[in-house]
Amino acid sequence: MHQLRWHALLQQWVVVTTARQNRPQMPENWCPFDPGSGRVPDHYDVYLYPNDFPAFSEDAPPFEPGEGLFAETGPRGACDVVLYSPEHTLPPSKLSLKNWRKVVDLWTERTRQHSENPDIELVAVFENCGEAVGVTMPHPHGQIYAMPFLSPMVQKEIASARDFAASNGGACLFCSLLERELKDKFRLVAGNEHFITFVPFAARFPAEVWISPRRHTRTLLDLSDAERASLAESISVIRRKYDALYGFLLPLMMSVRQAPLRRPDAPYHLYVQFLPLQRSKTKLKYLASIETAYGTFLADTAPEEMAEMLRACEPKTDPYRESGS
Ligand SMILES: [Zn+2]
Ligand SMILES: [Zn+2]
Repeated sequence: MHQLRWHALLQQWVVVTTARQNRPQMPENWCPFDPGSGRVPDHYDVYLYPNDFPAFSEDAPPFEPGEGLFAETGPRGACDVVLYSPEHTLPPSKLSLKNWRKVVDLWTERTRQHSENPDIELVAVFENCGEAVGVTMPHPHGQIYAMPFLSPMVQKEIASARDFAASNGGACLFCSLLERELKDKFRLVAGNEHFITFVPFAARFPAEVWISPRRHTRTLLDLSDAERASLAESISVIRRKYDALYGFLLPLMMSVRQAPLRRPDAPYHLYVQFLPLQRSKTKLKYLASIETAYGTFLADTAPEEMAEMLRACEPKTDPYRESGS
């Protein structure tokens, strides 16, 4: 079974995709992402690999949602795996800046391709990293889901941005948050010419960090060449800081959040969100009832203290540096 079902209480689509349950057990010591596997080129730096068990696929029935409490429709879209490196055991914190740049360029190019496909509404670029997030494959990789609808979280962000703009003369909600973070300084972690990295005021996850362009941009397609280089550098810096925080690979979820492709009027501001799951050197954060069933988060660390800890971790950069200086 492979279809979208409407969750009437939460007003969101659930992807029912039972084929994923039958994913074959990989033979030990064999990885499809390694050069020589026959599944990827024998030489590559970064590589876009079609997901073998896609939640959204180009040959699925189209997304034509019907009405009613029990609506269902087709999950047309696309799912890719983004291979960050041919090296099987390389943690993302050890990925070269050159490769991060190629990863960012690949995300951008794939977003551009999807922007020409009328079936695609949202391009979700993300990475699950670490066994605590359910990733058993050490090969460094992320994913791109091209979805035929807006995810509820992005929808919520757009609604918040719309409300804010309506009562603040059209101002961008995210630019306004950023302005305050730059003024307060307590929660800044790192910065470069085009991007600023900070722990958000109301961080929900331990060591949660956002990386935002200083300039108002909506999608990866709006970034200049120099800005893409700055974004790659910012991601490289935070990944190294994260793994230096407790001295091991920090389990986390990363998402590159961008405006929907087909709604030029939807207010949005591109940013990269990191949601780590480690709440101390020995403890994991579990999303239990209050978070999962009610959607209210308990945070165990003060964002200002976490920002200070992350600032102190190698590599050190100056987050207070003003733009262009
Ligand atoms: Zn591998
Ligand atoms: Zn903005």
